Amino acid sequence: MTRNFFIGGNWKMNGSVSLVKTLVDMLNGASVPAGTEVVVAPPAIYVDRVRQTLKKEIGVAAQNSYVKASGAYTGEISPEQLKDLGIDWVILGHSERREYFKESDEFVGEKTAHALNAGVSVIACIGEKLEERESGETSAVVTRQLKAIADKVSDWTNVVVAYEPVWAIGTGKVATPEQAEEVHATLRKWLQDNVSQEVADKTRIIYGGSVKGSNSAELAKKENIDGFLVGGASLNNDFLTICVAQQ
Ligand code: PGA
Repeated sequence: MTRNFFIGGNWKMNGSVSLVKTLVDMLNGASVPAGTEVVVAPPAIYVDRVRQTLKKEIGVAAQNSYVKASGAYTGEISPEQLKDLGIDWVILGHSERREYFKESDEFVGEKTAHALNAGVSVIACIGEKLEERESGETSAVVTRQLKAIADKVSDWTNVVVAYEPVWAIGTGKVATPEQAEEVHATLRKWLQDNVSQEVADKTRIIYGGSVKGSNSAELAKKENIDGFLVGGASLNNDFLTICVAQQ
């Protein structure tokens, strides 16, 4: 079973008109290997600008979206609006949203279902905190988070699951390839047992947390690691090294 490698660049709340131009120029000059899909997620305010200036081989994602198409929800953005701008992807359930904006597992599941119904593909993030790993709860936490998504989603074609251990995000402390592979294999088995063999075989499960050019090739060798969600290193040309990690 071959799954196309997937590289997401999560710019988080970083950037300016000038940095956005620099990154778009960098990406427009890069050649993405055949069989690798690249999607970048600028802050919402720059999403349209990036989509209009970035070459079409590279996808654009928002970093969040809401569960309604329109209405009195100040500050929110709907997947229908993303679609209107030609934005085909959204990151949902990132640990920073779960932690700082108190997003629950159920809400992330609801947002995922709504985005998919609106025709926007989803990078659905899950991952355990340090204390959860240390108390041996990693599998229980990530399968609980995945179940909350599975409870609301029937068609997995346009879902990429991002396993991002919270202790590895922005800390420089990357999971070892073995640590990541163990969780990815657990998640795939969960999909096999609770959704279907086909969904388990086809769904990309990507790793995020301090991925860099220097550690991406080792991680990419693991059977169940189908790509990366990259934060800090997506803001400079190290991202281009990560984009060719699977070669
Ligand atoms: P990082 O962030 O690569 O800076 O650790 C990853 C993420 O939060 O998606």
